[in-house]
Amino acid sequence: MNNLTWRKRAACQGVDPDVFYPVSEEDADTAKAVCAQCPVREACLEYALAYRERDGVWGGATERERRRIVRQRRKTA
Ligand code: SF4
Repeated sequence: MNNLTWRKRAACQGVDPDVFYPVSEEDADTAKAVCAQCPVREACLEYALAYRERDGVWGGATERERRRIVRQRRKTA
C-alpha cells in the first residue's frame, strides 16, 4: 500500500501532532474526535494496521484498539 494520497485529505493536517500521541488511552479523546470527522479514516487505519504502527492514534484507534482489531481479524481469518 504505497498510495498515500489519502494523507492530503487528512483532517489532522495542521493539528498539533502531540494530540495524536496521548500519554494514555484516556487522553486519546481529542485525537479520536478529529478522526471521527476525517474523510480518510478507513485508509488511515488500514495503513497503520498494514505497517504495524505501534504508537499514536491512527484512523480513530489507539495502540490498544489496533492490537484488538488485529487479534479479531486473525480469529476470523
Ligand atoms: S483518521 Fe485521524 S489520524 Fe488518520 S488521517 Fe484522519 S484525522 Fe489523521
